[in-house]
Amino acid sequence: MKVTKAEFIISAVGPDQYPDDALPEIALAGRSNVGKSSLINRMINRKNLARTSSTPGKTQHLNYYRINDSMYFVDFPGYGYAKVSKSQRQVWGSMIEKYLLERDTLKLVLLVIDLRHPPSKDDELMYDWLKHYDLPVCVVATKADKIPKSRWQKHMKIIKDALVMRPQDSFVMFSSEEGIGKDELWNQIMQHTGE
Ligand code: GDP
Repeated sequence: MKVTKAEFIISAVGPDQYPDDALPEIALAGRSNVGKSSLINRMINRKNLARTSSTPGKTQHLNYYRINDSMYFVDFPGYGYAKVSKSQRQVWGSMIEKYLLERDTLKLVLLVIDLRHPPSKDDELMYDWLKHYDLPVCVVATKADKIPKSRWQKHMKIIKDALVMRPQDSFVMFSSEEGIGKDELWNQIMQHTGE
C-alpha cells in the first residue's frame, strides 16, 4: 500500500477517547522494546512518528495513528517491563481485555516478537488471550536482520511451536532496519481491512 498520509491522533486512556468514525483498526501488541514503534515508522515511511522506546510504564495508553484516512494502527503499551507494578499490570490487563472484547472495528492483531528469541511467557499469554477471543492474528517476527537468513526457518518454527499457532494465523518475517517483510505485512493488513 502507498502511504500518503499518516497522523498521530491520540494517546487514549479509555474508550471515551477512542475514535468514533468506525474505520478498521489494526492493533499492535508486544513486549516493551521489541520494536513496535520502529515497525510502525517503517510501515508508514516515517522516521519518527511513532516514538521509539516510548516510556515503559505508561501502561494505560493506546496510541492511535490514522493511515491514509482509511484505517488506524493502535499501539498497545509494551508488556513485560520488569519495573511495572502489579497494580499497573492489572490496569493494563483490564484495559486491553476490554478493548479486545468490545472493539468491533478491530480487524487484526499484529503480535510483534523478536525473531532471535523464543517467545516470552507474556508473549504466550498474549497469544492465548487472542485465541480465546477468536481474533485474527499475524505474528510479526522482527529484527530479522540480526540473524543470518539460513537460520530464519529454524527460529520461525521455534516461535510457531511455542505459541501453538493456529493454521489460519499468518507469520511475517520483518526488519524495520532493512525493510524486510513490509510489503507482505501490508498485504496481510489489507486482507483484513478490505482495502
Ligand atoms: P518498542 O519499545 O517496541 O516501541 O521498540 P522500539 O521500536 O523503540 O525499538 C527498540 C530498539 O530496537 C531500538 O533501539 C531500535 O532501534 C531497535 N530495533 C527495532 N526494530 C529493529 C529491527 O528490525 N532491526 C534492528 N537491528 N533493530 C531494531
